[in-house]
Amino acid sequence: MNLLVVGSIAFDSVESPFGKSEKALGGTAIYFSIAASYFTRVGVVAAVGSDFPQEDVSFLQSRGVDVTGLAHLDGETFHWGGKYHENMNDRDTLFTHLNVFRDFEPEIPESYRDVDYVFLGNIDPNLQLHVLQQVKKPRLVALDTMNYWIDGTAEALQQVLRHVDVLFVNDEETRLLSGERNILRAVQKIRRMGPKVIIVKKGEHGALMVNDGSFFYAPAFPLDVITDPTGAGDTFAGGFMGYLAKVNRFDEASLRRAMVYGSTLASFVVQDFSIAKLRQVSERDISERFQAFHRMTQFKRDDAWQ
Ligand code: AMP
Repeated sequence: MNLLVVGSIAFDSVESPFGKSEKALGGTAIYFSIAASYFTRVGVVAAVGSDFPQEDVSFLQSRGVDVTGLAHLDGETFHWGGKYHENMNDRDTLFTHLNVFRDFEPEIPESYRDVDYVFLGNIDPNLQLHVLQQVKKPRLVALDTMNYWIDGTAEALQQVLRHVDVLFVNDEETRLLSGERNILRAVQKIRRMGPKVIIVKKGEHGALMVNDGSFFYAPAFPLDVITDPTGAGDTFAGGFMGYLAKVNRFDEASLRRAMVYGSTLASFVVQDFSIAKLRQVSERDISERFQAFHRMTQFKRDDAWQ
């Protein structure tokens, strides 16, 4: 196992203009680990309640996901509810029943501790720090966070960011974390906090990667129906980190390919609720869509003008 994810496992109840899904499998660790499992063996550290079905655990195992770090706690699994607006980009959180997630204290199993690639999902930065104290010497640490932690636990977040190589954020979080309105100025400021690679997620407009002086845009794949964007960010991160862990390098060319694999995996998850589409994807589907991304972003220079 050379990739570790720490984050939520949830039952999600989601409403979108395309329908409704009740208590379906979700949470960061689920989306991330399934996406990454197409590339590498990934270990999960997360908590579930006594209501969590064994068949979901078996499904993860069937994808080669290591579940040694899955804590089975007494009580109910985290339950999150959200409703998407007509534009499918904005959503309201309807409820957050933390349940066993409230007492989640990530304990990293002995067998995971010499892992090379670590993804710290969106949890309390103090817990993210606690994870980093338990792993030996990872080659690459990536982190996701949200407004709640940027506002509420700024000091702990600054502390953990010093140990982070790759940061996943959206536009709004980039501005909040840096205090800068302009995204490029914001990213430069965040790079001084620790992470050298910043990935700004822009929903249906794709994602921007800033690495040293270089910029790379990966578009979102054009789809005629988007059913449920939940988990797109975590799935993107799973494809991105899974690919890097597989090739075990993070030069600019590999990072760019990782961006496109992230977009590729994310483009599947949004096509249906929960993991309904993602779980059916084959390696061939991934390869075909990756090539479609390549064609979509190619253009020839006109030497007469250039
Ligand atoms: P995303 O759409 O990438 O923001 O991820 C959505 C997933 O995050 C859903 O599957 C939720 O179960 C999970 N989630 C929602 N709120 C939280 C929270 N406060 N902490 C951790 N995970 C959450």
